[in-house]
Amino acid sequence: MPSLHLSGLDTQRYFSAHELARARSFNRGEQALYVLSLAAQVAALVVLVRLLPRSVRSMGLGRIASGIVAGMVLLVTLWFVALPFSLVGLWWQHHWGLGPFDVVAWLVSQWSTLGPEAIFAMATIVLLVGTAGRFRRWWLVAAPIVVVFAAFFAFVSGWLAALASHPLHDPALKADVVRLERIEHVQGTPVRVQDVSSWTDQANAFTVGFGPSTHVVLWDTVLDERFSRAEQNVVIAHELGHVRSRHIPKAIGWTALIILPTLWLLAIATRRRGGVGDPANLPYVFLVLTVLTLLAAPLENAVSRRYEAEADWRALNAMRDPAADTSLFQEFGRSSLEEANPPLLDYLWLENHPTIAQRIAMAQAWEKRNR
Ligand SMILES: [Zn+2]
Repeated sequence: MPSLHLSGLDTQRYFSAHELARARSFNRGEQALYVLSLAAQVAALVVLVRLLPRSVRSMGLGRIASGIVAGMVLLVTLWFVALPFSLVGLWWQHHWGLGPFDVVAWLVSQWSTLGPEAIFAMATIVLLVGTAGRFRRWWLVAAPIVVVFAAFFAFVSGWLAALASHPLHDPALKADVVRLERIEHVQGTPVRVQDVSSWTDQANAFTVGFGPSTHVVLWDTVLDERFSRAEQNVVIAHELGHVRSRHIPKAIGWTALIILPTLWLLAIATRRRGGVGDPANLPYVFLVLTVLTLLAAPLENAVSRRYEAEADWRALNAMRDPAADTSLFQEFGRSSLEEANPPLLDYLWLENHPTIAQRIAMAQAWEKRNR
C-alpha cells in the first residue's frame, strides 16, 4: 500500500471551483459547531466540578450508589448540552441540501447506539470508582477489565447493528457481495442495509462487531440512483477490506495499549482531591478525560486514517476499477460536501478518513502500478 502523499493532485481537475467553495463553506460551519459544542461541554463540566461534589456528599449514599447517581447526572447533562449543537448541525446539513430536517427521525435513529453506549459508560464508571476505592494501584486492576468491557461492547455492537438493519434486496448487488467476499476471503459476512434517508441524504457505510458478530452495514443513501453499481461495489469492497484486515480487533488492541497510561494519568490528576474512588470527583475525572481525549485525537485519527487507507487499497485490489473509486469519491465530495483538502487543524483533529484528495491520489497510484 503506498503512503498517503498527495503527489501534487490538482483538486480543480476533479471538482469545479463552485463545488470546492460549497464544501469549504459547509465544513467551516461544521468545524465551528464542533468547537462551540466542545467549549459548552467543558464549561458544563467546570460548573459540575464546582456544584456536584456537595450534592453527592449530602445524599449520604454509599460509594457505588453515589457513583451511579453522579455518573447518570454527568451523562444526561453532557447529552443535553450537546443536543442543541447536534440539532443545529442537522439543520446546517439541511440548509446545504444534504437532507430533510426531521428532528424526530434523527432522535429515533440515535437510540440504537445511545443506549448501549450509556450502559458501557456506566459500567466503566462503577468499575473505576469501585476499584479505586479499594486498591492503591487500582489502574492495574481496572485496565484489563476496561479492555474486556470494550471488547464485549464491540462484539455486541455487531448484533445490535444487525437488529437496526435489514437484508439487501437487490439480487444483482447480492451476487456482487458474494463475488467480492470470495476475492477478499471473508465469505459469509452479512452485508445489511440501514434506513437513514428519513433524516439524511449523506452516504455512509460501516463495519461492526468481530468474529461471529461481524456485520457490514450500508446506509440506504448509498443504494439510491446517485451511485452506480460499480461505485456501490467499491463501498462494499472497502468495508469487506476492514473485515479482512481485522480492524476492529486491532482497535481493541489499541485500547489495551492506551488504557493503562490513561488510567494512571487519571490517578495522578485526581490524587490531591481524594482520587477516582471518591464519586464526588467524577466531574473532575470527566474533565481530565475530555482533555486527554482531545490531546490523543491526532494520534487516534492517524491510526484510523491508516486503517481506512488499507481498506481503500484492498477495495482497489478487489475491484481493479480505479475509475469507479475516483468517481465514488467525487460523488462524496459533491453529495456529502466532504472537503477534498481540509485545513491542517481539521485534518489532525477531526479527519479519521484520508481526505478525498488522498483517496483519489491512491486510486491513481494503483492505476500507475497496475497499468
Ligand atoms: Zn472505512
